[in-house]
Amino acid sequence: MLINKNDELIIEIEDIGSDGEGIGKYQGYTLFVKNALPGDKVRVKAMKCKKNYGYARLVEVMEVSPHRVTPKCKIADKCGGCSLMHLSYERQLLYKQNKVKNCLERIGGFTEVPLEPIIGMEEPYYYRNKAQFPVGKNKDGKVVIGFYAGGTHSIIDTGHCFIQAKGNDNLIKIIRLFIEKYDISVYEEEKQKGVIRHILTRIGYVTGEIMVCIVINGNELPHQDKLVQQLKEIPGMTSISLNINKANTNVILGDKVINLWGQPFITDYIGEIKYQISPLSFYQVNPQQTKLLYETALEFADLHGDETVWDLYCGIGTISLFLACKAKMVYGVEIIPQAIEDARRNAEINQITNAEFFVGAAEDILPEKYKENNIYAEVIVVDPPRKGCEESLLDTIVTMAPKKVVYVSCDPATLARDLRYLCDRGYELMKVQAVDQFAHTGHVEAIILMTRSGYKGK
Ligand code: SAH
Repeated sequence: MLINKNDELIIEIEDIGSDGEGIGKYQGYTLFVKNALPGDKVRVKAMKCKKNYGYARLVEVMEVSPHRVTPKCKIADKCGGCSLMHLSYERQLLYKQNKVKNCLERIGGFTEVPLEPIIGMEEPYYYRNKAQFPVGKNKDGKVVIGFYAGGTHSIIDTGHCFIQAKGNDNLIKIIRLFIEKYDISVYEEEKQKGVIRHILTRIGYVTGEIMVCIVINGNELPHQDKLVQQLKEIPGMTSISLNINKANTNVILGDKVINLWGQPFITDYIGEIKYQISPLSFYQVNPQQTKLLYETALEFADLHGDETVWDLYCGIGTISLFLACKAKMVYGVEIIPQAIEDARRNAEINQITNAEFFVGAAEDILPEKYKENNIYAEVIVVDPPRKGCEESLLDTIVTMAPKKVVYVSCDPATLARDLRYLCDRGYELMKVQAVDQFAHTGHVEAIILMTRSGYKGK
């Protein structure tokens, strides 16, 4: 082995990995180094060495990248949340844009990528509308509420988070004092004992409505009335609930929610559309950028009112309802039944009658409906999870031959794979737009327009 554990080496960082870590080479051997940036020359200590690559810990930055900045957050280097806060925001955007381009070139084999300039945030802080704070105790028995340190389950007491909506600080302070005053036990993973596990909060970006959901290992929270009394006084408080999770699992939420005070949901808007969001619903975490993402979807779909649109992987119907305002009919497909319940309710509260939703896997429902009624679509929108679309779904899309396919993706690698598949079967890549949904993290979101070859628009 070229490198052994604990070896100290000096390397130059050349690239950024998918989790925001720096990538450098030592005599051809690839090392991943958290908190290191392209342009940095660093001294590192080897930690875990595999055959072809390894992980190393940053010991010292010997030459500093011109794009390195001091993170606003003092614990950014330890916290598992923001892996790129030490890179200037401008460079974060460039990195994300290039990542999409590189994947399309290298994996997708596209030579001329029609890339639009990335849509970044004007003020890339305090953008998240949802937080899930783990609760624990430190070695001295003091209550800690915050985020996990990178790659571990040890909790860093966060105090103030620069990417979460600002309203969280006061809330957490109240809950912390409550736990201390009434000596409420906190969950210990190894022993599977203790009551409070996590605190989930959601804050409506437009409405300012606040939701607090306390995840507990048990059926009730001791002295919960006292906590509710205090929390309900917070301006904007709309929903206070418990979530029951007694399982020995990393999954944060259990299936059961008990409402303690107020409504079982908060309401928020994206554009003109109103959404009810309950503790278990999936909802995009960056509302400002989501609006821009959906507007781009609408622009790419270029609807005139007489189109049939399929929105696959539709979640709670967010994109579907956005499109329904401009289309004749929108059909949404989603695998999680509760999400479809939310989608139907959201259609109802917006008085949208031209949207219909189906529960099931997109790769099952679409071919089934196609076989049954020979359904047609002008536009198919897909927004799959990171693993991308099943090949069988792409085959159905090719058979249905919509004029346009709009692909929303949170993983440029699977996006590139799927685009290549469609473009080998009659589609043309027309527009590629990255949108920064997750400032200061390594995550990249992109939206793509493809049209059927030979189709020149309406
Ligand atoms: N378009 C929505 C949700 C996107 S997240 C929005 O913008 O809010 C991706 C969604 O795909 C999740 O809701 C997930 O439950 C769903 N999903 C995952 N696999 C699926 C499959 N095979 N078929 C249909 N939906 C699926």
